[in-house]
Amino acid sequence: MNKPSLIDLDKRHLWHPFTPMRQWCAPEHEPLLLVNGQGCTLRDQHGKEYLDGNASIWTNIHGHCHPVINAVIIEQLGKVAHTSFLGFTHEPAIRLAKELVDLLPGGKLTRAFFTDNGSTAIESAVRMALQYWKQNSRPERDTLIAFDRAYHGDTLGAASLGGIPLFKGSGNDFGYRVLSVSSLDEVAALDASRIAAVVIEPLIQGAAGMRLWPQDMLKSLDAWCAAQDVFLILDEVMTGFGRTGKMFACEHAGVVPDFLCLAKGLTGGYLPLAVTLTTERVFEGFLGEPGEGRTFFYGHSYAGSQLGCAAALASLRVFRDERVLEQLPEKIAHLGGLMADLPGFRQCGMIAAMTIDSPDLRLGVKVCLAARRHGLLTRPIGNTLVLMPPLCVTLDEIGRMVSALRAALANVGA
Ligand SMILES: *Cc1c(COP(=O)(O)O)cnc(C)c1O
Repeated sequence: MNKPSLIDLDKRHLWHPFTPMRQWCAPEHEPLLLVNGQGCTLRDQHGKEYLDGNASIWTNIHGHCHPVINAVIIEQLGKVAHTSFLGFTHEPAIRLAKELVDLLPGGKLTRAFFTDNGSTAIESAVRMALQYWKQNSRPERDTLIAFDRAYHGDTLGAASLGGIPLFKGSGNDFGYRVLSVSSLDEVAALDASRIAAVVIEPLIQGAAGMRLWPQDMLKSLDAWCAAQDVFLILDEVMTGFGRTGKMFACEHAGVVPDFLCLAKGLTGGYLPLAVTLTTERVFEGFLGEPGEGRTFFYGHSYAGSQLGCAAALASLRVFRDERVLEQLPEKIAHLGGLMADLPGFRQCGMIAAMTIDSPDLRLGVKVCLAARRHGLLTRPIGNTLVLMPPLCVTLDEIGRMVSALRAALANVGA
């Protein structure tokens, strides 16, 4: 008998996220096995090249195999990969915390709490907000406000904030109250006395299908939170690190929240690392004697891994050295110009989306399979197609991505 191929072994032993596994394992399905990458290009086991049109699920910033990030990770590996952040500290995390708080204007965010993915960055913010009010004379504040169609991650705590039934899982009682609203007007009409915090994806809801918020939404929401003394939690897991054209989406509105959650692009898309940034006020609300129970008793084994922090520092260095943000306006304009005539087109910085209006809800999947044949990788959200390349993408690569997408749309008759 022949030795089983890697694909055979995958179909026998793996279970992939968000994946209908019967269809995945079917003999006719050919999973794409990616072997290496350079810049915006990824290669499969046969050497065929693809442009990474969704930045490896919205994480990649400076391209694959970036020489600076690679070198910094290798250098860190020569020292140590991971040490516990419970009771110990280390230079990469200290330097990264300082650089992150300095990136945000006004000096309001002073404290960095590290975890290892976007869901736990959100989970940390929610737990901090609830515990803060509980031990700082407003224990009745046990309710989070979240928006209809929001997506904040997949752990039970983060998922309970979500407004997309598909991601919610089977239960929705996670020990705190979540009030789902669909607009700023609904928030403004609320009695704030029981509200601990409002959580929102600023500017654009990602997993909902790249839905843009109205222009002044964030500014007004921030003003309401300030007036009611309710915490504002911004989920910039997707929008952080240049994705919207500025370092952080909240900068477009001149807003600095009480909690800023960052993950996907933090390490340039290299390693699992996330951070919840918060204020001195929140931090001080947790100070006390150990016996008082005011400590934030939460954390993960790989919190603030040395390797991850080193990669994040390298990514921030590349932002400066390669003047990444300065080059975005031209790329954003090019991407938008090439896609503007596509149905349902909308754009937020380096996120461009279109929606096929069809009762066939599998059309988006079919377009993406066809795009693969034209050398473009992206992932649909229903019938919404998204181009969200690494920020290092060239104008020529943007052109090739849009051409591949158009060819794929033509192939499936959409
Ligand atoms: C991806 C995402 C998350 C969850 O991050 P994970 O690292 O996948 O847990 C949360 N919020 C937003 C807006 C996201 O795009």
